[in-house]
Amino acid sequence: MVKICGIGAGYVGGPTMAVVALKCPSIEVAVVDISHSRISAWNSKNLPIYEPGLEEVVKQCRGKNLFFSTDVEKHVYEADIIFVSVNTPTKARGLGAGKAADLTYWESAARMIADVSQSNKIVVEKSTVPVRTAEAIGRILAHNSKKGIKYQILSNPEFLSEGTAIQDLLDPDRVLIGGNDGPEGHEAIQKLKDIYANWVPEDRIITTNLWSAELSKLADNAFLAQRISSINAMSALCEATSAEVSQVSHALSKNTKIGPKFLNASVGFGGSCFQKDILNLVYICESNGLVEVANYWKEVIKVNDYQKSRFVNRVVTSMFNTVSGKKIAVLGFAFKKDTSDTRKTPAIDVCKGLLGDGACLSIYDPQVSEEQIQKDLSMNNVEWDYPIHLQPMSSTTVKQVNVVSDAYEATKDAHGICILTEWDEFKAIDYQRVFDNMQKPAFVFDGRNILNVDKLRETGFIVYSIGRPLDL
Ligand code: NAD
Repeated sequence: MVKICGIGAGYVGGPTMAVVALKCPSIEVAVVDISHSRISAWNSKNLPIYEPGLEEVVKQCRGKNLFFSTDVEKHVYEADIIFVSVNTPTKARGLGAGKAADLTYWESAARMIADVSQSNKIVVEKSTVPVRTAEAIGRILAHNSKKGIKYQILSNPEFLSEGTAIQDLLDPDRVLIGGNDGPEGHEAIQKLKDIYANWVPEDRIITTNLWSAELSKLADNAFLAQRISSINAMSALCEATSAEVSQVSHALSKNTKIGPKFLNASVGFGGSCFQKDILNLVYICESNGLVEVANYWKEVIKVNDYQKSRFVNRVVTSMFNTVSGKKIAVLGFAFKKDTSDTRKTPAIDVCKGLLGDGACLSIYDPQVSEEQIQKDLSMNNVEWDYPIHLQPMSSTTVKQVNVVSDAYEATKDAHGICILTEWDEFKAIDYQRVFDNMQKPAFVFDGRNILNVDKLRETGFIVYSIGRPLDL
């Protein structure tokens, strides 16, 4: 029986390995992590991440050919193929701080693999890494291993999107595998192809050299983020000219050379990947003396930051130039719908902007608890000086943040509502009931353009929706 070990049981490692186990019943898959709390959650009823369909997949395989463990060394020792999906955040200190990828977790995984292995292994880069990382990993493995042990490194970047991870893994657009030239490299590529061939059509499995595969992942995220920044830049121009961004994006989407995806204007992109991967790309460009190319990609992030601050400014200026002491309901904190992930969510910057002007926030997200917000803010070193409470608050409460458990509670006595995540349930809210229980005038700032503006205006709300003519 082929044995696979997946190092890193996060948003990528957990779902990816679960789907491999589902589709390859004859392969034993062990997912390992240094985080005891994460592994015990994977072994419980309450999985550590929310993804539609994930629970069913895990239930089907766990205990049969899918195992979650903190015994990293044992499973690495036993594995034939090791998928590494550890985190690669932006470096916080030292050379390249704020841009370069922090490969500490990768390096320690590689050193541990070298230390423990007694047989040849295929090591698969699942994490998003800078181009030519495989070279550095190869050196670590070669210089620290037992004599005679050989490794083949493959780059197999993951293209799943949170919120649709299981669907993306079961039916991927493409699987990308980069490997070394030469017979051993080709053999390793073939072994990985054989695994995916259990459910992915052959013509969707692309093979390249290692560096193209590594760079393709960074390019992929940069292109997607660029589309969002492009339509968001258009949204600002729409507001200035009374064009409507939804009409502009509809017109663009019908151009088959452009297509419909990633054309929704919003309060900005978030998530753990887009910003860090573009910054990483910028750093690589600068390191190679390509300053103009680096500047080009930097603009994608600048426009994203501008979009978030534009939204905050709009809220404050609309509400008589101050939100001081006013209760604002924040609907949605996750960086997108159908995930509980709040890493780099635009909600953080919007909330900080509003709190900076003295607002009181009442946050509701169907999948994000107060505990999760606290944990994500501290784990990701977000500077956030405002204590977060669970108790409901009155509109007279001074500057603070409360997390509540439903949208009606969040909006009660509020002066304004900010929609910051496109959860479907926000479309189904009884806005008449909400309006009746709010302070007047009552404002809605739709940062995701999911609500029916005309209906809200008929109800009596003053509405701001991104990239549309103003109602102010
Ligand atoms: P994550 O933080 O959710 O998970 C990483 C896990 O690795 C953590 O649980 C951590 O404890 C564990 N880990 C770190 N060092 C370890 C070690 N030495 N041994 C064992 N476990 C270790 O991160 P994620 O969102 O799953 O992302 C992982 C990688 O995949 C990143 O490089 C990211 O850029 C990339 N990626 C993420 C997504 C996404 O949507 N989240 C999509 C594609 C690619």
